[in-house]
Amino acid sequence: MNNKKIWLSSPHMGGNEQKFVNEAFDTNWVAPLGPNVNGLEQDLESYLGQHAAVAALSSGTAAIHLGLVLLGVKAGDVVLCQSMTFSASANPILYQGATPVFIDSESQTWNLCPIALEQAIISEIAKGKKPKAIIAVHLYGVPYQIEAVRAVADAYQIPILEDSAEALGSAYKGQKCGTFGDIGVLSFNGNKIITTSGGGAIVTPTADLKQKAVFYATQSRDEAPHYQHSAIGYNYRMSNICAGIGRGQMEVLDDHVAKRRAMHDFYADFFMAYEGISVFTVPNDDYFANYWLSAIVVDPLLANGLTRETLRLALEAENIESRPLWKPMHLQPIFEKYPYYGGTVSESLFDTGLCMPSGSNLSDADRERISTVLITILEPFF
Ligand SMILES: *Cc1c(COP(=O)(O)O)cnc(C)c1O
Repeated sequence: MNNKKIWLSSPHMGGNEQKFVNEAFDTNWVAPLGPNVNGLEQDLESYLGQHAAVAALSSGTAAIHLGLVLLGVKAGDVVLCQSMTFSASANPILYQGATPVFIDSESQTWNLCPIALEQAIISEIAKGKKPKAIIAVHLYGVPYQIEAVRAVADAYQIPILEDSAEALGSAYKGQKCGTFGDIGVLSFNGNKIITTSGGGAIVTPTADLKQKAVFYATQSRDEAPHYQHSAIGYNYRMSNICAGIGRGQMEVLDDHVAKRRAMHDFYADFFMAYEGISVFTVPNDDYFANYWLSAIVVDPLLANGLTRETLRLALEAENIESRPLWKPMHLQPIFEKYPYYGGTVSESLFDTGLCMPSGSNLSDADRERISTVLITILEPFF
């Protein structure tokens, strides 16, 4: 049997990436600005629709950091953050010298629990510090409970930093993810639904705010012939070479979304026959997920003792990559000393959940191999 590695999520070129990169070379726009940067921003703005003014940056992490800067987060401030996420959602809170406070997930979208969120806000206010911002994530491309989270944020007038790093192409009630926060964040890291090799973007509701983001991202240069600075600057702009890859990738974004969604449907069909293994799926038709990663939950009680770790190791032995869900931030050594609100939803998802190979570049032969291997692994348990 062909034993070439099947990856969880690998880069997938397919548009005119090389043409745009060649243009950058031919015109010597080899710098963190240029026509590809502007072009990618325009492509993203028209893709996201109404509210979007987009600045292309060097990473999603940089976008989250700048988002906190734009929201005025300073040393000593409290920032609320979904616990179940990638560490890049939370690290920039520490870059600012602020204090992260972690919130559990609800079990429908696996994202920010609005009830725990409100408890955290009430309790932090009682301790004397009204939180400065809420970081909400669309995990694996499934939108968070947009309306419920917004209602809590508005009731206490706290802005939302929407971490849409995994959710380009997802939508809620027809509106694209990335446009729901007071500020939104996208990532084009190598494993994301489209990639610029490394890169990200900040999505703001106004051209003014976008200009401000670009100002901070290019070393906060004041208007002057010499170098003059009255604010802390960052070197966070996207390179024109990377943006060229991004322009090519924008041509195939919808195709990637369709293919990732087809991977989700493949797993949903496959696991239907296995009690105790469920595929993470949107709660209803208001939600449209790009299903960046297809995730499953294995309940050992219903699955006759099968655990997600048994499954993961058996897949690994066949050179098929899978990975446990994000380990919650409140359980991470670097973050465990910070406050946490909620129950055990995120913790139990971490214990039982597994991300399956989900790339838009997986072939029929790959799917066939995955199902053959799965059937063999699952056979003794069912
Ligand atoms: C990938 C990711 C980021 C960080 O983006 P980079 O471009 O890798 O810096 C942030 N948050 C989440 C949820 C992510 O998945």
